[in-house]
Amino acid sequence: MIVVMSRNATKQEIDNVENKLQELGFKTHPIFGEVKTVIGAIGDKRILNTVNITTMPGVESLVPIMKPYKLSGRELKQTPSVIDIGGITVGSRELAVIAGPCAIESEESFIETALKVKEAGASILRGGAFKPRSSPYSFQGLQEDGLKIMAKAREITGMKIVTEVVDTRDVELVASYADVIQIGARNMQNFRLLHEVGLTSKPILLKRGLAATIEEWLMAAEYIMDAGNENIILCERGIRTYETSTRNTIDISAIPVVKELSHLPIIVDPSHAAGNWKYVGALSKAAIAAGADGLIIEVHIDPPNALSDGPQSLRPSKFKQLMEEFQLVASAVGRSVR
Ligand code: PEP
Ligand code: MN
Repeated sequence: MIVVMSRNATKQEIDNVENKLQELGFKTHPIFGEVKTVIGAIGDKRILNTVNITTMPGVESLVPIMKPYKLSGRELKQTPSVIDIGGITVGSRELAVIAGPCAIESEESFIETALKVKEAGASILRGGAFKPRSSPYSFQGLQEDGLKIMAKAREITGMKIVTEVVDTRDVELVASYADVIQIGARNMQNFRLLHEVGLTSKPILLKRGLAATIEEWLMAAEYIMDAGNENIILCERGIRTYETSTRNTIDISAIPVVKELSHLPIIVDPSHAAGNWKYVGALSKAAIAAGADGLIIEVHIDPPNALSDGPQSLRPSKFKQLMEEFQLVASAVGRSVR
């Protein structure tokens, strides 16, 4: 339910309504707009049949929230959210380009990659320390040692870092190192994990599940928001279809659909969508043209010898060349890369 306060409602009146709603067992989410304040009230709306909130001073009207994703949807919050990562924004005019290897493999290679993607214009560094691999025999990541390398790379390059957490038991550890915590496609509906990262104050990069509908994806965001963390960046990374010539099928329509349904920013991962570095440029440009707020791209200094996802990783020189091409597409749609 949305309680719309009148234009001239006082701070005291807003507080009184919020307190009353909390007393009735609702979770409240006030949004202070330029003209009006609205209070999102999440809870059992049948209670409102017994109490008349509309007669409270300062209240203009009560509007139901029709969609199941109450906090991530546009009904409660109409203005787009801009996520701040220590001064780098996602959801503003400027596109955020996140780049780096699939996994952190060694200190030397990670720092070399970091310096190269920074020079090419990437604003955030990526690198997995805990890797969700399809085979238990594949490289699983350097785990805490990887996080330490990540911290060192941040110190040297000044770049903010995004890394994945795959287990509730590691959330605190990962949050103590990362600037942005990634929830991977395979864990999009790991509700305990979503709740746990929702208790942290770090921005969350929430990837779309392998076969998740947009509604299921927004409901996953809802779990994180319900736990108290509203700093979410959605990431389209390709979905499972019958097509086998690419690793996944990029869902470009997800960009305008998410923009209509949600206030959260959305970025695109063309690397995991394509599974082949040759298609990364084209998919990235399509994503920018369709209104994505950024990209997350795998870059490796020696793709043939990468411990994971080599075939889809760009060499730093190719990434640099593409960054210049991205700038052209971005300016055609009123955005910029840097
Ligand atoms: C990744 O970003 O390295 C990754 C595992 O991605 P996804 O969860 O989208 O497969
Ligand atoms: Mn990968």
